[in-house]
Amino acid sequence: MIHLDHNATTQPCGEAIEAAEVCMREHWHNPSSVHRAGQAARQEVERARGSVAELLGVKPRDITFTSCATEAIDLAHRGVMSLAAPAGRPVILTTAIEHEAVRDICEALSKPPGEGGVGAEVEHIRVDQTGTIDLGHLDELLNAHADRIGMVSVQWANNETGTHQPVGAIGQRCKAREVVFFCDATQWIGKMPTQIDQPRSPFGGERIATDNDAVHIDLLCLSGHKFHGLKGAGALFASRTIRLRPQVLGAQEKGRRGGTEAVPAIAALGAACRRAGEWLRDGSGRDRVADLRDRLEHTLLERVEGAHRNGPGERDARLWNTSNIAFPGCEAEALLLQFSERGLAASAGAACSSGSLDPSPVLLAMGVDPVSAHGSIRFSLSRDTTDDEIDRAIEIVTSCVERIRRAGVSA
Ligand code: PLP
Repeated sequence: MIHLDHNATTQPCGEAIEAAEVCMREHWHNPSSVHRAGQAARQEVERARGSVAELLGVKPRDITFTSCATEAIDLAHRGVMSLAAPAGRPVILTTAIEHEAVRDICEALSKPPGEGGVGAEVEHIRVDQTGTIDLGHLDELLNAHADRIGMVSVQWANNETGTHQPVGAIGQRCKAREVVFFCDATQWIGKMPTQIDQPRSPFGGERIATDNDAVHIDLLCLSGHKFHGLKGAGALFASRTIRLRPQVLGAQEKGRRGGTEAVPAIAALGAACRRAGEWLRDGSGRDRVADLRDRLEHTLLERVEGAHRNGPGERDARLWNTSNIAFPGCEAEALLLQFSERGLAASAGAACSSGSLDPSPVLLAMGVDPVSAHGSIRFSLSRDTTDDEIDRAIEIVTSCVERIRRAGVSA
């Protein structure tokens, strides 16, 4: 199988598997136990915390382990909004192109308190046709709602198109107004160098070179399985200055998230962070895969009549691994089934909404017409994708589109 669906999940790297195995075989004890065996498991958890913190350039004490990014998103939004007490209804400024996990929690929080929400008003910051937010509109909304803003929630990179948001500029605005800024960085972390604005590096040593200056973010989520760790461990970075109401009560994770830690998955997340850190130190790996992605995209756009890209074309404006292409006249689900028969795994928008025939709300919010959105496919590469896989993927995609168009299976 040629796997071009890495924004859905990635293969665990050798280091992550090894780290998990050591914990399952040797450090299977409870990290909260005071005995020596428990403390050895605790050390594995704390080593992983240090590795996550190092990848972000933050202090280990500001990292809380969760089961996945979705849980970290829930903790951040509910945790902040249930304590936000502005005069009048609290406002969340977000976008219509967030991952479903963010869209859903914002909607849940907009319900009245008796229905599980906090009565929040959710305002969407406009995005252009590349899926980039309009900073002018963000300024307008920040001014219009001034004292009522509970939080700003904007992703770093989009899971369907790879589009980057101007997180540095958003962070500056939030910092200047003392507004809480949450960033869903699930698709960014492990793929791009990151430096969160901290008074000083907690590690005396060399920092991973970043393409951007340090950015101001109050809370950020990540997920191990998106960058060669295991499913079952994610993390929330939350600056200790942020008041956060825990959603799962218990003594673990300094009271921010109860429940015995999933030591093997957490150790694997730490190993995946160390491996990603090494890989990111030198930009050549990213350039190699971006070249492959560009070759896949250019060849398909050239060979397949009517095909066009959703999202920005420039390398700097999107993730190096993602390409989203519309094949008008084809139904995405039919294409994916044909690809799969021929040994190619790709996706139509977010994995969690596959099985649904609705066009991607993210593409619709970017102004993509419904016919194109119905026939749009996301190809997402990994740091291990090869030249040969791209050659074969091009052949499979071009022949499947032709076959479906000939058979007249139209959207
Ligand atoms: N946010 C984004 C941008 C994602 O792409 C995903 C997963 O696809 C999530 C959140 C949810 O991640 P998890 O599977 O760790 O819950």
